[in-house]
Amino acid sequence: MTPGGAAYPWLDELNPQQREAVTHADGPLLVIAGAGTGKTKTLAYRVAYLISRGVDPSRILLLTFTRRAAQEMLRRAGSIVARGTSTTGRVWGGTFHSAANRLLRTHAKAVGLERDFTVLDQGDAEDLINLIRHDLGLHKQEKRFPRKAACLAIYSRCVNTAESLEHVLAHEYPWCDEWADELRELFKRYVARKQARNVLDFDDLLLYWSLLVESESAATELSKLFDHVLVDEYQDTNTLQAKILRGMRTGNDSIMVVGDDAQSIYRFRGATVRNILDFPKQFPGTTIVTLEQNYRSTVPILETANRVIAQARERYTKDLWSEKDVGQMPRLVTCTDETEQDAYVIDRVLTHYEQGIPLRRQAVLFRAAHLSDSLEVELTRRNIPYHKYGGLRFLEAAHVKDLVAFLRLLENPRDELAWFRVLQLLDGIGPSTAARVIDHVADHRNDPRSIASFSPPPAAEEAFSALAETIAQVAPMGIENPAAQIERIRAFYDPLLPKVYDNPYVRTRDLISLEQIASGYESRRLFLVDLQLDPPSSTADLAGIPTKDEDWLVLSTIHSAKGCEWDAVYLIHAADGFLPSDLSTGSEEEIEEERRLTYVALTRAKDFLYVTWPLRYYHKWYAPSDRHTYTQLSRFLTADVLRTLEEVNGAGESPGAPTDGAEPPFDIELDVAERVRQMWESYDV
Ligand code: ATP
Ligand code: MG
Repeated sequence: MTPGGAAYPWLDELNPQQREAVTHADGPLLVIAGAGTGKTKTLAYRVAYLISRGVDPSRILLLTFTRRAAQEMLRRAGSIVARGTSTTGRVWGGTFHSAANRLLRTHAKAVGLERDFTVLDQGDAEDLINLIRHDLGLHKQEKRFPRKAACLAIYSRCVNTAESLEHVLAHEYPWCDEWADELRELFKRYVARKQARNVLDFDDLLLYWSLLVESESAATELSKLFDHVLVDEYQDTNTLQAKILRGMRTGNDSIMVVGDDAQSIYRFRGATVRNILDFPKQFPGTTIVTLEQNYRSTVPILETANRVIAQARERYTKDLWSEKDVGQMPRLVTCTDETEQDAYVIDRVLTHYEQGIPLRRQAVLFRAAHLSDSLEVELTRRNIPYHKYGGLRFLEAAHVKDLVAFLRLLENPRDELAWFRVLQLLDGIGPSTAARVIDHVADHRNDPRSIASFSPPPAAEEAFSALAETIAQVAPMGIENPAAQIERIRAFYDPLLPKVYDNPYVRTRDLISLEQIASGYESRRLFLVDLQLDPPSSTADLAGIPTKDEDWLVLSTIHSAKGCEWDAVYLIHAADGFLPSDLSTGSEEEIEEERRLTYVALTRAKDFLYVTWPLRYYHKWYAPSDRHTYTQLSRFLTADVLRTLEEVNGAGESPGAPTDGAEPPFDIELDVAERVRQMWESYDV
């Protein structure tokens, strides 16, 4: 008999298999089940159950794909346990990267870092690779050497898959095969440069953590921090993450992971579906729970989704069934062009809105961020509010990066990229002067205020002394509210905006948003860490939870829609070339991943599903000509799938009535930094 009944009446909200998982005794547990079967719900209830049984919340590690997902689950768990969210707030919840950041700061010494290391985002990491690429003269080769983004992608792939450079080149980047020696040298210097500057890139967070737990004694100590480890979306973890989890369960095998092999969509980042399939081998004695009832979608929607995934080459989870037996058949909407597609989608969104479905419970999904461009224009024209997830993130905007670079150089004055960025905003300062300023600061005990004694070129004198003055004001404010620091930096930076960029007004609004988010933080470091690791993915994230009268339509890439659900879903541009993306049709594996992406998109819908495609697509990059191509329906919508769809035209069709780590660092000496350097010395990674 499961403990529950009168003691935990909320267990009755679960089906027997879910309840089994929630009340599982210690030991490894794998929940492998299809979309919408309640995996995430089960995890949230498990957290609530553990806390109700007396587990200290701060000894639970809950790893999710985004911070938003962790917050939502903890909110759910908090509403179940009597003591509420103030208790669940103490759970270690977040992404692998944010947990890595917290642990590595506490144990910085053991991994050869200073506690105040800063984290490079993708763009910064590429810039650093580029600097070294130039130093090595690789940009001048007769045959073209891979560009910075490709170099970083290769590096990242080696690190995340724990495969040798040769293997990665041969299997994933055969056209770069001839550059193995140069790439190895480049990566060796990249690592040395990051270590000298006390910076880590995203992959390093996982790499250092995994190397830390390679030490048996460190792994034992870290494992002692947590009584329970729980992981959502396990199908999208990579080899390095699996290794970390094994290490983190040294001497304690209480771990629960949930996932769906049919929804694995991050192969391009090194995720491997083998992780979930091999979990029982990695953790002997694993209990496996499977779930087959889908609580999200209506029967007709599920039928379409089941038929799409039925064509997958390999699959572990079974077809899903649902009790939501009534509902409109999903529609396949053929439109003459994008304009018609936009009009159709907006018309349906408004119809459903009139029928009582708020905008935020409806979502338009697409394969690539730019595919919503024309829809966004039309929504704006019609005054329909929307928020977009995925694609260009707020933090990637140049002006936001400038301001963050200011904070970074104050936090870690050895962060040369941050200095480069800020210094080159000033008239009269180019890369060579910037490099001299950086050396000057290094020669003055890395005190950023020392720039006051640097003699800039005459053309830069005025701006330079204003910069020095700003830094002198802000540098001593490390522990004060970062919003106050941003305010002072803006007094210097805002007047530069019109000189450096177009649209200064819009950009200023972003900076005001940044200042507002910063006001929620006690220290600059915490603020920076959150920004780098869990960047807000849209302005909606910045605004927090919408109030009752706020409402907006959701626009999202399929990748960013993972784990979410909406009453009405519109999957647009369901044409070959977009779905699958023509960038991902090189190998059978890539096509399989695109199929799973389609499955993810379809299974987000609860009651209404529209799949639309324009027959003609105008290529904007040929503008102003009217060059267009005729498209074909997505290959995933086979005859078998079409039988489950109601086919309609986008025009003239009148749709029927829709039915900071507090733990003390342990005393273990490891030279993880040396291990990272050695990786590029020998031939096995
Ligand atoms: P995905 O694979 O898309 O991440 P999931 O398996 O994590 O989906 P959830 O998001 O946890 O599924 O649940 C899907 C929906 O089904 C939610 O609205 C959830 O509240 C509901 N649900 C799950 N289990 C039950 C249940 N036993 N009774 C009623 N509703 C349920
Ligand atoms: Mg889920």
